[in-house]
Amino acid sequence: MTMDLREHLEQITHERFGLAPDRCGSRQLYEALLTLTSRLAAERPAPAGGRKLYYFSAEFLMGKLLDNNLLALGIREQVRDLLSEMGQDLNAVEDQEPEPSLGNGGLGRLAACFLDSIAALGLPGDGVGLNYHYGLFHQKFVDNKQAELPDPWLEKESWLIPAGKTFPVSFGERELKAVLWDVAIPGAYNDKANRLHLFDVEEPGDAPEKGIDFDKTDIAHHLTSFLYPDDGDEEGRLLRVYQQYFMVSAGAQLILQELEERGYGPRELADRVIMQINDTHPSMVIPEMIRLLTARGLTMDEAVEQVRRACAYTNHTILAEALEKWPLAFIEKVAPQLVPIIRELDKRARKVCPDPQVAILDEKNVVHMAHMDIHYGCSVNGVAALHTEILKKAELKPFYELYPEKFNNKTNGVTLRRWLEACNPALTELIDKHIGPGWRQEPGKLEDLLAYSNDGEVLKELLAVKRSAKERFCGMLEEAQGIRLNPDSIFDVQIKRLHEYKRQQMNALYVIAKYLDIKAGNTPESPVTVIFGAKAAPAYVMAKHIIHLILCLQKLVESDPEVSPWLRVVMLENYNVTWAERLIPAADVSEQISLASKEASGTGNMKLMANGAVTLGTLDGANVEIAQLVGPENIFTFGKHSGRVIHLYDDKGGERYRALDYYHSPGVEPLVDFLLSPELLSIGDPMSLTALWRDMKGKDWFMALLDVEEYIAVKDQAFRQYAGREAWARKMLVNIAKAGYFSSDRTIEQYNEDVWHLS
Ligand SMILES: *Cc1c(COP(=O)(O)O)cnc(C)c1O
Repeated sequence: MTMDLREHLEQITHERFGLAPDRCGSRQLYEALLTLTSRLAAERPAPAGGRKLYYFSAEFLMGKLLDNNLLALGIREQVRDLLSEMGQDLNAVEDQEPEPSLGNGGLGRLAACFLDSIAALGLPGDGVGLNYHYGLFHQKFVDNKQAELPDPWLEKESWLIPAGKTFPVSFGERELKAVLWDVAIPGAYNDKANRLHLFDVEEPGDAPEKGIDFDKTDIAHHLTSFLYPDDGDEEGRLLRVYQQYFMVSAGAQLILQELEERGYGPRELADRVIMQINDTHPSMVIPEMIRLLTARGLTMDEAVEQVRRACAYTNHTILAEALEKWPLAFIEKVAPQLVPIIRELDKRARKVCPDPQVAILDEKNVVHMAHMDIHYGCSVNGVAALHTEILKKAELKPFYELYPEKFNNKTNGVTLRRWLEACNPALTELIDKHIGPGWRQEPGKLEDLLAYSNDGEVLKELLAVKRSAKERFCGMLEEAQGIRLNPDSIFDVQIKRLHEYKRQQMNALYVIAKYLDIKAGNTPESPVTVIFGAKAAPAYVMAKHIIHLILCLQKLVESDPEVSPWLRVVMLENYNVTWAERLIPAADVSEQISLASKEASGTGNMKLMANGAVTLGTLDGANVEIAQLVGPENIFTFGKHSGRVIHLYDDKGGERYRALDYYHSPGVEPLVDFLLSPELLSIGDPMSLTALWRDMKGKDWFMALLDVEEYIAVKDQAFRQYAGREAWARKMLVNIAKAGYFSSDRTIEQYNEDVWHLS
């Protein structure tokens, strides 16, 4: 096998560059390995099965693919050894790969983990999405603020395979061709491969000259330029509808074409196909598929029945403002052919239940996408136990009463191949040494580690592995951002999209409290480094104020010699999968501090846990399940519970949350007012800091002030416990041992068992 690989690689580098591999530079080797792995993956047949899954998602946050694909193809170690025999370094080669900008956060990363697990389990299932050219944006910090640039990732050599297929998508007055590109998704532990299908326009437009502003009316060229184009104006909102319809129309046509190629007729759709709708962005696949089926001779009743059995919906949020609704007039403009179908679906739903709360079309003629999914799908799932309970009892209660049998929970998971095996080889080696390699295919076996929870030697090894991961991260950060950190400080890590409900602002208040403490002469037992990574949506003003505050605190603390030995703050620039893979192995504390009831699940919490970080969190999303698994000794929880929080949002209770009441607490007021201190005002933008200060004390919609005092107390307690190294290492070990439950292989097995029935 090694011989074959060597010959194959030599053949490619000779053909392409006229060089032997040992004479190639990293860039040339990267291109050669890309070719080699693409070929090996593309040669693999698709898994067989009676029914095939199509996973529709607006995002797939894939991360770099070379390492992952080598792992799945089972040749990672051989290639590493082969390169090192040639005096080459696989890591340097992998650094050449740009990260695909096809997603932005947890939802897109979940879709990527699912594709990895579906392939690893040998199940027939492809992804369907769009081929964005410039991603969400590339984040830069300028004057302590976020600036946005295009994030191009497509080079002449990429993972995209031209599928040689196009599909016409009709936008009323005009038609565009959807060009299909495929990315091969090889399965680990088998010799099969699935596909990620990405649709693109025929003539993609160039990147904007400056920033990320572009002509949003130039659909023909810019439909696939950016993920989530700014929806602050009507053109932006329309462009999102164009993107969604383009994706689902082309996807639905591909499905029917493949169905026919497999030898089945359109009346067999539901027996042979299941479409998972990841959040509401792909919801228009329902009316579109009905339209295509009726065009193929099915009656409306038949088409509706096929689609109802073939679609399943995953809900990802209970934030009312994040539940998608489109004016019917927009759909009329983008895809007028869907309007009569949506009206008919609304009419039929009203016959089943006249309650206007469950209508698809409301009195203002606005289409509620989630409502369409629930009426016309066979399954509705939440993504963590608490989240699903809140959907049933509150957010979607009238739907649950109507269709109790459709509701089910699928607690999210992450692929431990990427998020442990690939990103943390030293920890993987330690685990293998003690419990063997079987946990890869049976993640529950990680619990065998519990046998070592009182083994001082193993606990020491664990601390040593963590310490070297921290050193490694320090090197990478210094190279990227010129920032030097102390690897002996506690790495307190909050990495996720910037959103007020995730409460990075509450973590910033902790930094202020610590700063004031240290200035008052109270130094902590262990030095602390608070590390943030987050992008703010370009139009989300308050999120940008929070980034500004964090960057100002970073400056303030690092330039104060009294404080900086004890406390540092770092915000990673352009947080993405690559940074996550570097930082997660180095994290000591995992910050999961969302306002209870607001985080559907979280998956960062799972990745960090699997790498031996101890969670500091609220009882929200999957944190609840983490707490149950590891027990109270091995997690730090705080904060008001979800029931109480939901009550505080309630108009009727007469107890509505008032930020000002909490602001006036002696433990809180000095922290909030520090935003307007001379120290910060001399660094930052007074307008931005004042706007944030005013919002925090006067509104604080996500209730940072409700929990901040308990947060500070529990975080200090966690940091004190960190000093007891052996007891801390035991917490790390229990977290790793219990992380098997959060393997996305488990999640996918449950989807298949309860919803997909693939084979
Ligand atoms: C896992 C992941 C997320 C999701 O993080 P949460 O803490 O669950 O919100 C976001 N971005 C990247 C790059 C990730 O890898």
